[in-house]
Amino acid sequence: MNVLAIGCHPDDIELGCGATLIRHVERGDHVTMLVLTLGQATHQGIGLRRAEQENAARMIGADLRWGGFEDGSIPEGRETIDAMDRVIADVRPDILYVHAPDDSHQDHRTASLAGVAAARRIGTVMFYETPSTQHFQPTMFVDIDDIVERKLAVLQCHLSQVVRQDGPFDLEAIAAQARFRGFQAHVRTAEGFESTRFTWDLGAGDRQKGMSEWERLATM
Ligand SMILES: [Zn+2]
Repeated sequence: MNVLAIGCHPDDIELGCGATLIRHVERGDHVTMLVLTLGQATHQGIGLRRAEQENAARMIGADLRWGGFEDGSIPEGRETIDAMDRVIADVRPDILYVHAPDDSHQDHRTASLAGVAAARRIGTVMFYETPSTQHFQPTMFVDIDDIVERKLAVLQCHLSQVVRQDGPFDLEAIAAQARFRGFQAHVRTAEGFESTRFTWDLGAGDRQKGMSEWERLATM
């Protein structure tokens, strides 16, 4: 399966679905991250944030692409959709992860709308949350129980953001969020998602894979 995750700034994707992407890589899926800007507006230096993002992608096991847009000024409409279209044509994703549309940051809102438009031929579109997402009501959850620490380690690649006084995240809060989403999903820790379109491919493949745990035990 091919997976594409789109985020506006270095660290957005990891905050929203970093552990889920690690799960995809573990399954053998091919994961690509498209980061639309270098995060220039935070004044930490473009080179630093580029290197941080490259390290994070390497830890996840994902390919990294850059959109080349200016932080805070991602254009609405055609130009951004075209940039996404080019990556989608290349990657051919089965699943797209992108910002949720209700967000106080203008770049995040723009990327979400453009992502939905660019994903017109993608079967599954999942919205992830970041600290500026509003009114997020996830109905889909990924159990990340044994990889929360790996998610936090990936986020620590973005050291310039971790140590910011007004930083977009602190790791304790991210761990608490994972615990709360897990509580909602009746597992220990989770990442939560909304979806505008979810196609469930139950496949015709190995029947054993489709067995419930009850059925599998009964055959032993
Ligand atoms: Zn962002």
